[in-house]
Amino acid sequence: MNSTAISPVKGNRKLLRKLEEQKVDVQSCYQCGRCSSGCPVAEFFDLKTMEVVRLAAYGMEEPLLASNTIWLCAACDTCATRCPNDINITRLMDILRELALRKGVVPAQPRIPQFHLSFLESVKRWGRTYEIGMLGAYKIRSGDLMGDMKLGMSMFSKGKLSLFPHSIDGKSDIKEIFEGKGKEYER
Ligand code: SF4
Ligand code: SF4
Repeated sequence: MNSTAISPVKGNRKLLRKLEEQKVDVQSCYQCGRCSSGCPVAEFFDLKTMEVVRLAAYGMEEPLLASNTIWLCAACDTCATRCPNDINITRLMDILRELALRKGVVPAQPRIPQFHLSFLESVKRWGRTYEIGMLGAYKIRSGDLMGDMKLGMSMFSKGKLSLFPHSIDGKSDIKEIFEGKGKEYER
């Protein structure tokens, strides 16, 4: 972790209220470290999982939204499962990612939100992912036009990537989810 001083005085009370509304009880963390020690990608984080929870408990939004941890978190739920206080850390990471996007914070790992947005656009449009369309949108966003081309060709030749999108039943239900998207995060 960097040397950011943690102080409740500097805390963002809006963030604290938001976490309370979303039933992410960061205040009950007693820093046992079980979340951090079970995280499969912890070695790549700039903030440990337990540090994310502690910073959130103090409403320290700025270092949280600037961290690479919120983007590298794989949402595997191991930390939340291991937490003796049932703190929904996966939900916390989700809230922080959405907040970073809404506030236009420059992401520490830009390609991850680029992929995230390309994926969501595809689901919004087709009700499920249309891989080739999603990859095209991601490549345009990231500017990495030729990266992973060999892998893509190999997947295509094995029939893993369909040229045309598949639609699904219940697309209107998916649309409703997107229409409500983000209301809970409005500041
Ligand atoms: S496992 Fe739960 S209580 Fe322990 S440090 Fe992590 S969030 Fe806090
Ligand atoms: S949900 Fe994220 S922070 Fe928690 S264990 Fe998985 S990768 Fe680590």
